[in-house]
Amino acid sequence: MNSETGHKTILDTFGRKHDYLRISLTERCNLRCFYCMPETGVALRDKSHFMTSEEVIAIAKTFVGLGVKKIRLTGGEPLIKKDVANVIKQLGELPVELAISTNAVLVHNFIDVFKDAGIKSVNVSLDSLNADRFNKISRRENFEIIKSNIDLLIANDFDVKINVVVMRDVNEDEIIDFVSWSKRDRINIRFIEFMPFDGNKWDWNKKVSLQEILDITNAYFGQDEVIKITDKPNDTAKNYQLKDSKGSFGIISTVTNPFCDTCNRIRLTADGKIKNCLFSSGET
Ligand code: SAM
Ligand code: SF4
Repeated sequence: MNSETGHKTILDTFGRKHDYLRISLTERCNLRCFYCMPETGVALRDKSHFMTSEEVIAIAKTFVGLGVKKIRLTGGEPLIKKDVANVIKQLGELPVELAISTNAVLVHNFIDVFKDAGIKSVNVSLDSLNADRFNKISRRENFEIIKSNIDLLIANDFDVKINVVVMRDVNEDEIIDFVSWSKRDRINIRFIEFMPFDGNKWDWNKKVSLQEILDITNAYFGQDEVIKITDKPNDTAKNYQLKDSKGSFGIISTVTNPFCDTCNRIRLTADGKIKNCLFSSGET
């Protein structure tokens, strides 16, 4: 509790203030990105292990009472949760900034739900602009609907961030295509370094670093064309923009340049556990 303002704050033992809650609504997904999900999907557990919608709302309210200012819905794929529209609606009534990360396969069904709940920012995963390649990475055939749903989000004035996990010999040859897209459209491309998680075939050589991504863009567009723009406080990305472009691009360097000291996140897993760090196996 802040003795001057009377407001509650979650402070950790490193003095970091945690006011951003990420809620995983489900572990399951309708895609099978090879770096994230086993080909057969996650092992199914009885639904009694997972939070009900009412529990999600109750826990979110508790965190908002403790000073949380932003909530992001994620997963797995949040939009496949039964009753997700109702969860979004109820969270939209809380005094927080509400955002969502999705693979966008089902986004066309949720445009009004997002708007009614006051969602402004939608993060979409898209690791390739080449349909065959994307479908291979995600082991499904959804490229066209995802691309058209991204256009739909842009047309409806959402702030759209495109998350691209950059992997050597998989999609690093598309960095220039993605950055060029940010020149044409009002989107923020976020290149994410490939992160090691249990059993995801991570290997140090597959990671493409922040510096390498910058070197590639500087070499192609010319150093004078690539402008560093101001990062928001607690932003995990270092952000840049090409001159005269509608959008921007950022690089999330979790592996080569971790940002633990400014982390303000708390994660709530679909089975109701609190996780302080994405890389930690410890849960409460
Ligand atoms: N299904 C939604 C989606 O794909 O946006 C939300 C959940 S997904 C786990 C959230 C983000 O984590 C995605 O952008 C995905 O690319 C990223 N991600 C998953 N595994 C990763 C890994 N090994 N390295 C880097 N990013 C990863
Ligand atoms: Fe993982 Fe998201 Fe891909 Fe699903 S869409 S497999 S949750 S990265």
